[in-house]
Amino acid sequence: MDANHILESLNEAQQQAIKSDAKQSLILAGAGSGKTRVITHKVAWLSSILDINPMSIMTVTFTNKAAREMRGRIEGILGEQLQTMWCGTFHGLFHRMLKMHWQEAGLIKSFAILDGDDQLRVIKRVMKEMNIDLDQWPPSQVQWFINKQKEEGRRKAKISSNNSYLEEKMAEIYESYQAVCEAEGLVDFAEILLRSYELLNNNEGLRDHYQRRFEYVLVDEFQDTNEIQYLLLRQIVGPDGCIMVVGDDDQSIYSWRGAKSGNIKRYTKDFPKADVIKLEQNYRSTKNILSAANSVIKNNPSRMAKELWSNNEEGEMVKVYRAFNERDEAKFIVDIIKDWVKEGGCLSECAIIYRSNAQSRSLEDSILRAELPYRIYGGVRFYERAEIKNALAYARLAVDRNNDAAFERVINVPTRGIGAKTMDNLREAARQADSSLWQAAEEMAKANSSGRAVSSFQTFIDLINKIATHKDTEELGSFFTDLIEASELKEFHGKEPGEKGRSRVENLEELITATSNYFGIGEDDTDERTTLELFLDQAALDAGETQADESEKAIQLMTLHSSKGLEFPLVFIAGCEEGLFPHQRSMDDAGQLAEERRLCYVGMTRAMQRLYMTHAEVRSLYGSDSFSPVSRFIKEIPEELKYEIRLAAEKEHPDQGFKPRIVGGTDVADTPFALGDRVTHNMFGEGIILNYEGQGDNARVEVNFDSGGSKWLVVSYANLEKV
Ligand code: ATP
Ligand code: MG
Repeated sequence: MDANHILESLNEAQQQAIKSDAKQSLILAGAGSGKTRVITHKVAWLSSILDINPMSIMTVTFTNKAAREMRGRIEGILGEQLQTMWCGTFHGLFHRMLKMHWQEAGLIKSFAILDGDDQLRVIKRVMKEMNIDLDQWPPSQVQWFINKQKEEGRRKAKISSNNSYLEEKMAEIYESYQAVCEAEGLVDFAEILLRSYELLNNNEGLRDHYQRRFEYVLVDEFQDTNEIQYLLLRQIVGPDGCIMVVGDDDQSIYSWRGAKSGNIKRYTKDFPKADVIKLEQNYRSTKNILSAANSVIKNNPSRMAKELWSNNEEGEMVKVYRAFNERDEAKFIVDIIKDWVKEGGCLSECAIIYRSNAQSRSLEDSILRAELPYRIYGGVRFYERAEIKNALAYARLAVDRNNDAAFERVINVPTRGIGAKTMDNLREAARQADSSLWQAAEEMAKANSSGRAVSSFQTFIDLINKIATHKDTEELGSFFTDLIEASELKEFHGKEPGEKGRSRVENLEELITATSNYFGIGEDDTDERTTLELFLDQAALDAGETQADESEKAIQLMTLHSSKGLEFPLVFIAGCEEGLFPHQRSMDDAGQLAEERRLCYVGMTRAMQRLYMTHAEVRSLYGSDSFSPVSRFIKEIPEELKYEIRLAAEKEHPDQGFKPRIVGGTDVADTPFALGDRVTHNMFGEGIILNYEGQGDNARVEVNFDSGGSKWLVVSYANLEKV
């Protein structure tokens, strides 16, 4: 491999970064400027030109997928297999190190990794042993506290003692939890890094060994490293080792998880001789997309000075679509994707990006209806999310008490103090009586009315019976509102701290929107399923469709956070409304608002050829309707760079004060109704036609009923009459 081969596809600044013999360097550059590409080529350069063994190079990426891709690209450049190269995430790499030095690290050889759920279980167990009231001290908050301490590099002893009672209590639990982990050989995620740090810090020989062993360390997405990760890098590199970090302060989006974009400045202080290289040419996006992204991010205060230009074609303007509601938005997006494919594009070139997890629900709905394959990148489908499955399990029990799977799922969610032993007894009783768990629980409750576990069974039985009283209703939205309230699922999931808990609560609220809009249609006249049963069956089917696998060509759905580092020819950013994006809770805080804007910058710069930003006038999200103005981020894009998609037909309705419209323009459905017509339905009463789609038997109309809420109805079933 000669030098030219490695350098030929790089610009001058990139080449300089590759050829530089500076021991330490920082590449600070905007999105799509080839930072990741520099890392890949640098590894190739180090190994084939400078003859450094690939095993002596450590490359740190942000996700395992990125690591696999990186390894693949390097193998491509070098033409050899590099399975054992140290290329991975912080957790992956340092887990490997702990496996090799388990003894020095004070671990047992077969130590096991605790994922988040496992960790929570251990914390609960420890707290119970300490006789701590789990309701008063939510275990998930304790978990958050423990991980935060570890990420900051603190053991119990280092937690300052002049803290609040609350923190002292948490610190005590931290200590006991850690003792259990030590005794049982358990290592949580944060522990992997802290433990590795301590291993290197306390063991001079080993530290020397690794500082010599890794002749070069390269780090991608450096702006999102946290404290312990930074400290680890310093250990591995030593004061005088070779390290190249690449990053973009404008793409720092994980401060809520402890990331410190300040690490960039700290790095230049810790390594004062470091070469600072700026890459200024963007290769990813069209000129228009790039200018639009730049015009948004420039509204942030105190950025590090960076320029970014593109030699790509001008390209199309950023398209802004004002949808009537979230379903209109989803349908619009799916229609554009269909067109893209018709024009010869591929589904996997399309990405739909959104701020909040719960937004995926209406998008998934629309994609499923269009029968297109899709994947949620870095996440799970709406109906597979734990909190949604929990709510559905309550509903399933309401419909069928003998559904054991549903029973097992929620008997102790939220916690009702039913332990593993009680459950074993219950299962055994059910097995002997050849009955369902429900029946066995009823028997137990009847036979023995004292005892804590038994009274918990009775509470549960009463709860389900209460929920079931309305199971035959047509008003699924209010059924689920009651269910979620009675089950206290929101309080339960909301206790999980941070973004995760909020996201779970939002998903539960979104389930209310989903069910309020649901209008079930049976197979035929003989289908006697209730609306609830139809819905539950549909949800099971939707969840059962496995995600398109990685190789399959599928639409990519993801949150803005998971879109980091990726690129797609066609990108949609959905839900660009004030309160949703920027998110409500960040709007009053300058720091958080700046982070939202960086998220927007990340999202926009994923787009290579076409970028759509959509917003809805009315959005039912999290169970209620909101009328939110368009996001300030769209407003920050100058007029000459954006294009508002006009609709083919607009007709003002005097009564309602909103504009019904044909979506997509050309796609005229054959219904006997015009937009804005008033119609009457024998059950829902009078309403107004908002929207329609489909032909013949499939023709459907969306009616906004005066009684509240809008529904999609199949024309051939609904017996609508014009008023
Ligand atoms: P991000 O900030 O989003 O992580 P990045 O700075 O890491 O972006 P890359 O992903 O490395 O950018 O590169 C963006 C795109 O530009 C990729 O498709 C890459 O192959 C291409 N690219 C980078 N440098 C060049 C170059 N010199 N010539 C041609 N294409 C390039
Ligand atoms: Mg990158």
